[in-house]
Amino acid sequence: MQRYISSRDPAKAGVESHKAILSGLAKDGGLYTPYPVDFYIDPEKIRGKTYQEIALEIMSKFLDDYSREELRSYISGAYDSKFDNQEIVPTREVPGMYLMELWHGPTSAFKDLALTILPYLMSGAMKKSGDKKKVCILTATSGDTGKAALSGFADVKGTEITVLYPEIGVSDIQKLQMQTSEGNNVYVLAVNGNFDDCQRIVKEFSTNGTVRNSFRNIDISSANSINIGRLVPQIVYYFKSYSDLVSRGKIKCGDTVNFVVPTGNFGDILAGYYAKYIGLPINRLVCASNSNHVLTDFFNTGIYSVDRPFHTTISPSMDILISSNLERLLFSASHADTSLNLKLMNDLAEKKSYELPGRGLAKLQDIFSAYYATEDDCRYEIKRMWDRNHVLIDPHTAVAVHAAKLHRELTGDDSPAIVLSTASPYKFSQDVLKSLIGSAPDNAFEAMEELYEYTGVDIPANLRNLKNKRVRFTKTVEVNEAEEALFSRLEDISNA
Ligand SMILES: *Cc1c(COP(=O)(O)O)cnc(C)c1O
Repeated sequence: MQRYISSRDPAKAGVESHKAILSGLAKDGGLYTPYPVDFYIDPEKIRGKTYQEIALEIMSKFLDDYSREELRSYISGAYDSKFDNQEIVPTREVPGMYLMELWHGPTSAFKDLALTILPYLMSGAMKKSGDKKKVCILTATSGDTGKAALSGFADVKGTEITVLYPEIGVSDIQKLQMQTSEGNNVYVLAVNGNFDDCQRIVKEFSTNGTVRNSFRNIDISSANSINIGRLVPQIVYYFKSYSDLVSRGKIKCGDTVNFVVPTGNFGDILAGYYAKYIGLPINRLVCASNSNHVLTDFFNTGIYSVDRPFHTTISPSMDILISSNLERLLFSASHADTSLNLKLMNDLAEKKSYELPGRGLAKLQDIFSAYYATEDDCRYEIKRMWDRNHVLIDPHTAVAVHAAKLHRELTGDDSPAIVLSTASPYKFSQDVLKSLIGSAPDNAFEAMEELYEYTGVDIPANLRNLKNKRVRFTKTVEVNEAEEALFSRLEDISNA
């Protein structure tokens, strides 16, 4: 059986995947990480396969306490006509690079690839564990996870979902997507803070012993990328995109490619690391950040420091200083050196920074390159991509396009570059329109229309229909009130 070990557990006890999925964060505050991983997936074997077939190959290896039949039914339930492209994740060629389009799902962001299947994995885990508790999913979002999770878990039996989002930072469309969520088991709360505040509140709350003891009839879990059930499904699209390029004769099977990933909580790019680990021919993983470039600095210097200003940018889903999943990378790359991990995480908590010893850094630099884009770089790339190629990209994708170019210019590495395109530009209509023509209406829907008129690019149905939906959730709390709000939400669930 594939084991999942908490990144902070010196005993390296480990659990099966369904237990890790049910639990979200480990009780010791660490992240469940697959270790050791000792299988290999031959890219030749997935050549020409559909998204669903590749998903089954990969998920049945990582989640081997689920049967193939279970996984097959989850996969066909998740990756169906909810996606507006039959390929689920199509890869498009533009001059000098490829765009892996991850936003064809029900909420128009890459989070849908994992959050359409996580509810199935969670329900399956509840069945396997046999306990009759309600699963209460607490999720912090920088903008896109929230809606994808609310949509995935809406009215899923035995689950309740609560999302915390930062009041300032998320786009108007992202906010409205969450506020209009349907379902009897969903709840949305705005916090007067940033994403790091939301993530910290959720982590502290869900590992708090008093909370766990007060609600013995509830399992608290997470739909954030700290849940391994998010991470594993994300490995699939790296293989799919590679396989597509082989099928189209763009590369030969076995050739190496680079993936360029717009990065926030380090979940998406970490999935790429595991793809490489199990055999996908990846030359480099290029980590792209916005003005909150903690990760760029880390990969270049070995010093991870959050002692810096937090910037609100036009790529809000990457406005993050504490990238949780980096802890998993440190764990995996050091062959499960929990004492190193504990020391670094302790330094981060106490001194707001840590430094990775030299040898460890060199090992990471063998695989990762890191760059960042300023706000101007980002706007420039949106405009240039449209003017030159008539391809409309969102600000997160633009950050990665910029990093892809920098990497090629600065290193001469001309491996085929696959940029992960993570959201529909219409989620950020105002900023995209401003990048193209210099101004945009204050009203998000007017901006959406105007962007459509200017480009003729189709508006995803879920975003176009948003303006007819009823706003259900408008509550905002201060950071120091959030815990109490979560507590009373759990009381309501517990007593229902
Ligand atoms: C979440 C998100 C990211 C960052 O992904 P991580 O897994 O947090 O690194 C990038 N772009 C978009 C559009 C997102 O929603």
